Amino acid sequence: MPHRRPDRLLLAVLTVAAPGILVIAGLLILGILSPVAAVAAAAVLLALATVIAWRHVTDLTRLQLRVEQLAAGEDDPGYEATTVSDLSLAIARLSRQWQDEREMLAAERATADYILDALPDPLIVVDKSNMVVRANNAAEEVFETELTGRDLSAGLRHPTLLRAVDSALRESTSLAEEIAMPPPMNRNYSALVEPLGESGDSGALILLHDLTPVRLGERMRADFVANVSHELRTPLSSLLGFIETLRGPAREDSEARDNFLAIMHEQAERMSRLIEDLLSLSRIEMDQHSRPDTPVDMRLVLAKVDDMLSMKARNRNMSIQITAPDAPAPVPGDEDQLTQVFQNLIDNAIKYGGEDTPVEIVVDQPDTRQLAITVIDHGPGIPREHLPRLTERFYRVDAARSRQLGGTGLGLAIAKHIIARHRGRLDISSAEGEGSSFTVTLPTFAEETDESPDEALG
Ligand code: ADP
Repeated sequence: MPHRRPDRLLLAVLTVAAPGILVIAGLLILGILSPVAAVAAAAVLLALATVIAWRHVTDLTRLQLRVEQLAAGEDDPGYEATTVSDLSLAIARLSRQWQDEREMLAAERATADYILDALPDPLIVVDKSNMVVRANNAAEEVFETELTGRDLSAGLRHPTLLRAVDSALRESTSLAEEIAMPPPMNRNYSALVEPLGESGDSGALILLHDLTPVRLGERMRADFVANVSHELRTPLSSLLGFIETLRGPAREDSEARDNFLAIMHEQAERMSRLIEDLLSLSRIEMDQHSRPDTPVDMRLVLAKVDDMLSMKARNRNMSIQITAPDAPAPVPGDEDQLTQVFQNLIDNAIKYGGEDTPVEIVVDQPDTRQLAITVIDHGPGIPREHLPRLTERFYRVDAARSRQLGGTGLGLAIAKHIIARHRGRLDISSAEGEGSSFTVTLPTFAEETDESPDEALG
């Protein structure tokens, strides 16, 4: 109860009793009431006034307390509105309404926060003094720091962006342009800076959208076209050169003609192989997302590849040695594509492996969920720094040697894409001077995975 209550009670008792006291005093003066009767009447009157005033002062005091609580944003769940006046009831209703509105606003705020945090793109809101008032999860992840509550320039050190925010706040101008975040971020963003409220007086909003994968894709496509053109240009210009020679100086020279025709045939075959590989790559990419599910016995696939390549191996005095379990080793797959993977890997082992050494193929089932097939050669091996890039299109450790051996530089890229379509994995290890091993791990029918081919591609 507030401390003013005794004064208020006294004042209320006097206010209620005053008219009666005046009447009693008048009656006493006029001699109508005896002094004893007057005192008795005044005492009764004061007692009654005290009871009436007490009730009202109590109600009023509770009401005052209640209003003060509401004003302070507190809530008193034990408050009984029924014991106080109508006004108090109305205030209690108002309080409930406020409470509902507060809850609704809190829910709306929580939903807005949830939406902002669910946005994949970084979003930052600053107030007019450049202080970050809201940064969503994506923003804090990208800038790897807590932004909210700090000056924007403390977390985001990009001059163009900071200048744009400054002019959004001062001059109410917007910015929409591509910016490059310097190392260590090394990413490209499309940035949108918008003033909030009239002339930026409510702050500014910064929205970033990551363009790095798009730019990377564009660069890869451009590099790819450049690489294909380069790969085709060499045999093509050699063909044109020989055609010129055959039409001119060597027209009558039959020995030279036979020689040239043999080279031209080789060059044309090289172009044809390249086009074959490019077509298979684009076919595989087209159905990258549909996982094949026909049972394929990998022992049979390897036996088939052995048949196809054993002659080539014998030419280098090499042998293909397969170690596989006696039981069938089925995986869900596309037989032709899996054949292509092992054709490429075993062909490489023969090309790059050492003469007079075996190419070993080991089929292993580490558990019921996967089958691992390793192709091992005993060649010069691959320097460690090349391993991560080996499956890129046209990436070669020694381009001249690859071309000389008839390679297109696409074999491992094709293998990687086929393996990804099968939701498998390709692991390459190599020891210089000893040889290399390429392990293809494929999920079996026991494996239930939701992983998408894109994720498996890495
Ligand atoms: P290529 O047609 O050039 O053989 P690949 O994509 O099959 O293309 O292989 C890419 C490069 O990886 C090859 O040029 C070669 O340098 C290297 N490479 C692949 N397999 C082996 C291996 N078994 N031993 C050594 N180097 C290899």
